[in-house]
Amino acid sequence: MKVSIQKCKDYLFPELETSLLNLISPFGSISGILRGRKKVLLKPNMLSPQPPEKAITTHPKIVEWLSQKFISAGAEVMIGDSPPLAIGQIENYWNKTGMREVSNKTGARLVYFEKEKSKIISLNGSKKTFTVSVPELIFDPDLVIVNLPKFKTHNLTVITGAIKNFFGLLPGLQKPKLHKEFPLPYDFGKMIASVSNIFKNSFTIMDGITGIDENGPTGGRKIQPGILLASESALALDLVFCAIVGLDPTKIPVLPEASRQNFGPYTLSELELFGETIEEIKLHDFHLPKPSIVSKLPGSMVKLAQRLLKAKPRVDVVKCIRCGACVNVCPASAIFRKADEIKINHSKCIVCFCCTEVCPVNALGISTSPLLGMLKIVRDLKKRIIS
Ligand code: SF4
Ligand code: SF4
Repeated sequence: MKVSIQKCKDYLFPELETSLLNLISPFGSISGILRGRKKVLLKPNMLSPQPPEKAITTHPKIVEWLSQKFISAGAEVMIGDSPPLAIGQIENYWNKTGMREVSNKTGARLVYFEKEKSKIISLNGSKKTFTVSVPELIFDPDLVIVNLPKFKTHNLTVITGAIKNFFGLLPGLQKPKLHKEFPLPYDFGKMIASVSNIFKNSFTIMDGITGIDENGPTGGRKIQPGILLASESALALDLVFCAIVGLDPTKIPVLPEASRQNFGPYTLSELELFGETIEEIKLHDFHLPKPSIVSKLPGSMVKLAQRLLKAKPRVDVVKCIRCGACVNVCPASAIFRKADEIKINHSKCIVCFCCTEVCPVNALGISTSPLLGMLKIVRDLKKRIIS
């Protein structure tokens, strides 16, 4: 399984073009990705209607370059993602993230998945089957999905890498509902692994020129890893992501199950790496999300730990602009308006952190108990001693 790694400092041409060309060359370049197929769905991460400089969404310059190249090769190109609150607001996402401009410049078609015909699929989750509704266009044998995740952490799943980016192909409010159905990190990870397996005709390019650590995927610290990654296997790419930031992939909720369902790869040694070596691009100051300590525990201990360690969302009343996005997305109806204030009923909260993902002004932080703070200090010390 090949994974290609290239350094790239910023989104300016010609450096970006050189890096992208080198990145995809081990796979036969644009024609190698197409392999005779005539349609391309570019799937960026458009999680929040924020400008590209915030590093929350896939940079439009990468999407633009790919659109131009695939169109020049004779393919029909679409660009689509279904962020949590897309219904009725998708135009705002397209405008703010720069995808509208890409479409205007290149002729690629913006897809609103909520309006496409969809198909119900039954999948195996943790201990139970569940159903998802998927846009029918995904099943066209003439289509390749070019998965374009962003290099970020995630409060619930530790990283939001290549595999999790497929979750955005499920339209409507089913994503928050699935959070409610699978509230524990490892169960949620198994569900994500099953969903990602629907999208087999794919090729992944990760935008790691800028990214987010700490409390990602929206509220964390902007970082500049200065890298691009590519692979035909989203799982292989996530294993490399983990190696770059010094994470054990067996402790990331989605990866062990994704390896099991795909019959590997399980470790880095099973991969063929091209371009830079991991050592050359390793990040030594990558900050994990606060609640990720909880997600590393066995499933049976997570509920108890969540109660003891008390990682929970909290509203910063000064920053809050009372837009109501968190109220609309919360799958447990735990956030509500009272008079002119946003309140959280913590006894209903399932700690999914969907609210922190959609807040446009980063007014939803995560409060933790002193015990969690101590565990973090111990973990950071251990990391320093080892490195
Ligand atoms: S309050 Fe936030 S973290 Fe709690 S259930 Fe609702 S969306 Fe999830
Ligand atoms: S906390 Fe954020 S998402 Fe919720 S109402 Fe305030 S500004 Fe909007």
